Amino acid sequence: MRVIGHWTGGKPVEGTSGRSGPVFDPATGEQTAEVAFASAEEVDAAVQAASEAFERWSGSSLSTRAKTLFSFRELVNARTEELAGVVSDEHGKVISDARGEVQRGLEVVEFACGIPQLLKGEYSDQVSTGVDMFSYRQALGVVCGITPFNFPVMVPMWMHPIAIACGNTFVLKPSERDPSASMLIAELWAEAGLPDGVFNVVNGDKVAVDALLDHPGISAVSFVGSTPIARYVYSRGSATGKRVQALGGAKNHAVVLPDADLDFAADHVVAAAFGSAGERCMAISATVAVGEAGDALVGVLRDKGAGIRVGPGRDEQSEMGPVITRDAKQRIVGYIDRSEQSGARLALDGRGIRIAGHENGFFVGPTIIDQVTPAMEVYRDEIFGPVLSVLRAGTADEAIALINANPYGNGTALFTSSGEAARRFHRGVKVGMIGINVPIPVPMAYYSFGGWKDSLFGERRVHGPEGVSFYTRAKVVTSRWPAPKASTGASYHFPTTT
Ligand code: NAD
Repeated sequence: MRVIGHWTGGKPVEGTSGRSGPVFDPATGEQTAEVAFASAEEVDAAVQAASEAFERWSGSSLSTRAKTLFSFRELVNARTEELAGVVSDEHGKVISDARGEVQRGLEVVEFACGIPQLLKGEYSDQVSTGVDMFSYRQALGVVCGITPFNFPVMVPMWMHPIAIACGNTFVLKPSERDPSASMLIAELWAEAGLPDGVFNVVNGDKVAVDALLDHPGISAVSFVGSTPIARYVYSRGSATGKRVQALGGAKNHAVVLPDADLDFAADHVVAAAFGSAGERCMAISATVAVGEAGDALVGVLRDKGAGIRVGPGRDEQSEMGPVITRDAKQRIVGYIDRSEQSGARLALDGRGIRIAGHENGFFVGPTIIDQVTPAMEVYRDEIFGPVLSVLRAGTADEAIALINANPYGNGTALFTSSGEAARRFHRGVKVGMIGINVPIPVPMAYYSFGGWKDSLFGERRVHGPEGVSFYTRAKVVTSRWPAPKASTGASYHFPTTT
């Protein structure tokens, strides 16, 4: 059995804690590797390596850092196919989707290549007679990223390229479900010429996370995962004085107005609900059909959902792969069972799906549940699987009120042909990322990504300008260079400008 250790101080190291967990191929249900779970001592070793590397790396020139980023960009680009394969094998998503994930991560690396421009400060000449003022930003120190299973390349790339470009050193704690992509990324950083200790990986579970949150050598924590853990990470990390951004779960609504092109809307809603088996934080998991759109929409959604080709991720013909674990499959099937008992109507049932040759894979077929009400568990909880709930609303304003009553506020989409309705919608919803006739409105790397309410704890979103701000802190310098013997004596009032 392949054993996955950690990456500390520029090289792979074996786990020594004696604790580990299985990694599966979700398409076959077979275990493919065993991943080491770091102890607090192993986390400390990674933080030490990162601390030792910090002074030199943060003091390196902007052009040295930009060149390293460019080299890393070239390597990720050249090895996209390999990275996508590793993602597909451990996550289960189809290979075309995995390629897309690498591409979106690469865009953050490309953004970070512009670090000399991004870190430009401010300068004011002559703020007082003979006095100038300027500001600039410096790296924080050792920062860490704790990431979920669903984007094993892209989500860590929301963090480490920017943190490293800003001059920080980094410790990544990836998901224990699909850790191999992070080990490959560590190799690529080393190959790009990043000095030893600037990028480290500790694999593991809660023990490693808690050790990072409590470690006095860590200055900032970026977390992406489910809401209960995001809330926990935010409070425990902040309690020890760290800067924390913690992105949580989601319940993303797509509202379809009666004036929308129904076929266009349905194509995009099924793609956003069932792409990556619904395991995206920006997946559409609730559709709100407004007015007379309802029955017709459900019919078209069902037909399109039923036509999705489900199969192993490595098969180029597959459009949707398995879910991450056997437990996840059972949990999702449980939600579907209980939704029927609570009075909702199954318009498309993916529970019994069998994939020839992959009978033990963790497959759940596309499922559409109609007549869902806000009180039902299937609506209240984030299911994180290929399950789409359909709710009805009388008006667009009712749909906005429904979205705003939901505790999550990550993403939402509106399908309409009315500019007036679109404007009213995006101004009215309490949600961080909004699509108008765009089902998965993931901001480009040069904007920042993050939701509202229970979808983000902390002040700053990831990547884009807020990412640069998160990984740096500002200094303002007030400076005077008097001519020799220019003193006019001490003054004891609070300084004012002259
Ligand atoms: P998760 O919360 O279970 O795990 C995320 C990370 O936290 C992992 O590294 C895991 O090892 C660690 N962790 C898990 N339990 C912990 C505990 N009790 N104490 C300390 N650390 C713990 O999330 P997941 O199942 O890997 O990923 C899916 C979730 O991530 C979904 O809720 C999804 O919406 C969310 N997500 C959100 C975004 C976003 O941008 N808001 C993006 C991707 C995923």
